[in-house]
Amino acid sequence: MTARWESVPGPVVANELIAARAGWSRSLQHGEVLRLVDLEGKQAVDFLCYNAHDHEDRYAAADTMKINGNIFIGKGTVIYSVNCNPMFTLVEDTCGFHDTIGGCCSSALNRRRYSKPDDPSCRQNFLDQLRRYGMGPRDMVANLNFFMHVPVAADGSMDMGPGISRPGDFVDLRAEMDVVAVVSNCPQMNNPVNDYNPTPVRAIVYRPA
Ligand SMILES: [Zn+2]
Repeated sequence: MTARWESVPGPVVANELIAARAGWSRSLQHGEVLRLVDLEGKQAVDFLCYNAHDHEDRYAAADTMKINGNIFIGKGTVIYSVNCNPMFTLVEDTCGFHDTIGGCCSSALNRRRYSKPDDPSCRQNFLDQLRRYGMGPRDMVANLNFFMHVPVAADGSMDMGPGISRPGDFVDLRAEMDVVAVVSNCPQMNNPVNDYNPTPVRAIVYRPA
């Protein structure tokens, strides 16, 4: 049986497996669509993006929440840059829950929360990818987390996971500018965002027909 995510509505430009715990990045042209597939479910996919022609014009989590009027990311959400330029539109979403308040895991956070500073982290994955584009720690900003479940209660209390995405859930992100997309397939093992079992995800880039 063909999974729904395997049906791509247009010519495929790239189709790459992102191994468990690995980073990934790619430049996309305006109009191309990035499909991120949570192949096995319950896998957090940390995400950053930068204007391909001006890296200082980069993802703005706070402005994205303000302009969309919601702290959660879902179908129809427009992802904005610090200059309030649309970077991506979430044109398809089979999961229904994505976070942009939880940020990414880091060596410092793993030390502070779990006394495990040597565990792999999304921050290090991001930095390894950013180096390819001449960027470094000063270019890190608050990120977005696809398929990561961060419920927020009425009193403001929040928690990380457990994940709710099912095998084969995907998001389609239409590039609204020439953009660099950066992914960390979250390696976190100390909390339930990945169900204590980091798994591979797939990145497909296509040109909508
Ligand atoms: Zn992480």
